[in-house]
Amino acid sequence: MSPRLLLAGFIGLLLIAPLAVSEFHVTLLNYIGLYALVALGLVLLTGVGGLTSFGQAAFVGLGAYTTAYLSTAESLPGWLAPLGGSPWIGLVVGLVVTALVAFVLGLLTLRLSGHYLPLGTIAWGISLYFLFGNLEFLGGHTGMSGIPVLSLFGLELRDGRKFYYVIWAVVLGAVWLTQNLLDSREGRAIRALKGGVVMAEAMGVDTARSKVVIFLIAALFACISGWLYAHLQRFVNPTPFGLGIGIEYLFMAVVGGAAHVWGALIGAGVITILKQWLQDWLPALLGASGNFEVIVFGVMMIFVLQRARDGIWPILTRFMPQREAKRRVPDGEALPKKQLPESGQALLEVRNVVKRFGGLVANNNMSLTVRAGEVMALIGPNGAGKSTMFNCVSGVDSASEGEVLFRGTAVTGLNSRQIAKLGMSRTFQHVRLLPTMTVLENVAIGGHLRGSKGVLPALLHLDRAEEARLLAEAARQVERVGLKDSMFEPAGSLALGQQRTMEIARALCADPCLLLLDEPAAGLRYLEKQSLAELLRKLRGEGMGILLVEHDMDFVMGLADRVVVMEFGEKIAEGLPDEVQRNPAVLEAYLGGVD
Ligand code: ADP
Ligand code: MG
Repeated sequence: MSPRLLLAGFIGLLLIAPLAVSEFHVTLLNYIGLYALVALGLVLLTGVGGLTSFGQAAFVGLGAYTTAYLSTAESLPGWLAPLGGSPWIGLVVGLVVTALVAFVLGLLTLRLSGHYLPLGTIAWGISLYFLFGNLEFLGGHTGMSGIPVLSLFGLELRDGRKFYYVIWAVVLGAVWLTQNLLDSREGRAIRALKGGVVMAEAMGVDTARSKVVIFLIAALFACISGWLYAHLQRFVNPTPFGLGIGIEYLFMAVVGGAAHVWGALIGAGVITILKQWLQDWLPALLGASGNFEVIVFGVMMIFVLQRARDGIWPILTRFMPQREAKRRVPDGEALPKKQLPESGQALLEVRNVVKRFGGLVANNNMSLTVRAGEVMALIGPNGAGKSTMFNCVSGVDSASEGEVLFRGTAVTGLNSRQIAKLGMSRTFQHVRLLPTMTVLENVAIGGHLRGSKGVLPALLHLDRAEEARLLAEAARQVERVGLKDSMFEPAGSLALGQQRTMEIARALCADPCLLLLDEPAAGLRYLEKQSLAELLRKLRGEGMGILLVEHDMDFVMGLADRVVVMEFGEKIAEGLPDEVQRNPAVLEAYLGGVD
């Protein structure tokens, strides 16, 4: 059975379900849909983007309260009067209010890293909850009733069976949008957040923007869920928008499979049904009344975190057919390429760069030049300051003193995204990749700056032509570095040496004129090293400039046009490979004075 058929079967089941089950079960399915919508936002935000939020219930509340207020208030203040009465206007206003609030909260909290971010979301989750409960015009803790029935094309959605179709159409629509987004240039940028900000920014991704985007989308999904809830229930009070429910939403996403869109539906379903059963059975079983299900959930969460961190969905997919089309080598029109500077022209000029970390001088008065069409090797013992030099050049760090020019532009003080735009691309000494994404997708992240389609076209799948070209380019680079056979494997399954090679393909996908390679041959076998050297020679022949840090001396000396030697942060020698190898200071540094 193909995945498409499976999906069609699922949608078929959804369509007939309300005709076949009791009123009570329709209500249950309605709630599962509402919860799934919020959990879906969390899949994007937390599961994919790595930003944990406990505060989503507050956005549900914003959606619910906005429409409740606008559609029930007897006399709205004059400036709000035109917005009153219609649930649909309530939806639009709710979305705008939520977007504004989320934008401000996002600006304030998304900069926080580590455990400060979840704590921040708890803080505003609680604040908004108390705001709902304490505002007189929102009915305080008693809430607001008399919210009007939703009507669609003249049909009043008074009973749960009719409402069901609206809820599930929205949920499936949201799944479609989210899947489209994840399967795009913007989606890769979002997924790259988990690989660390440094890597994503070096590939040209504006990580702050990507974070705000997923935060907004998750908040808007929650808002729509709240709007639906208000018109289904026709009554709101603050209880369902508190921190406890915020935690439950996160629980749903994690149990279902936080990194997968369908995990949101599975999680919402499993948790809602389980809760219902436990609420019915536990008190009967224990002969006492109380919220015993909460205890069971707590234990269950610990079990999930220990035994099935990725949630239920990945376990289910093991029994499902894989989509063959995803393994087809993409083909698309070639992307435009930069005009490489003429061979011999200075690409990179580092002038008297000093880099201090507190009292430690990691780079002292370093100068070097890399020209188009040459391989410059930077060598030196461990801790000499080579990676620090790379970071200063590529904008990961900024030099404390001195100047870096790239293609004639001073790049000191620019961030790595701006420098990447100018045509510099790099790999990392400690590989930075997304282990669960395929090699092809990882490499395609490198092409980020060569596409321009944003979030909206991605959501609506209007980016397909550009996407095909980007993936085709990524495929070409994967083939070029000799990883064709692993194109559709998860990058995490490659040997370390191949992961390094994949990073080179990713850097090449950016169409750079200067390539910075930090220990590219480490972990490669002899033949792999030979083909890497061949590739680098070819790139040099095409006019690319290459700055290379490498410990393997045979590799370096056979390939480099010129060599700069560093020790203790300073340049101790520079010249042709032969000269450098005979330089007494270099022999001293490397061999401790043996000659
Ligand atoms: P290499 O790449 O040549 O092995 P590095 O550039 O990684 O050397 O390191 C040079 C020196 O700078 C080392 O002593 C290292 O401990 C120090 N160093 C590097 N990065 C940092 C940092 N972010 N903070 C403090 N010290 C650092
Ligand atoms: Mg290093």
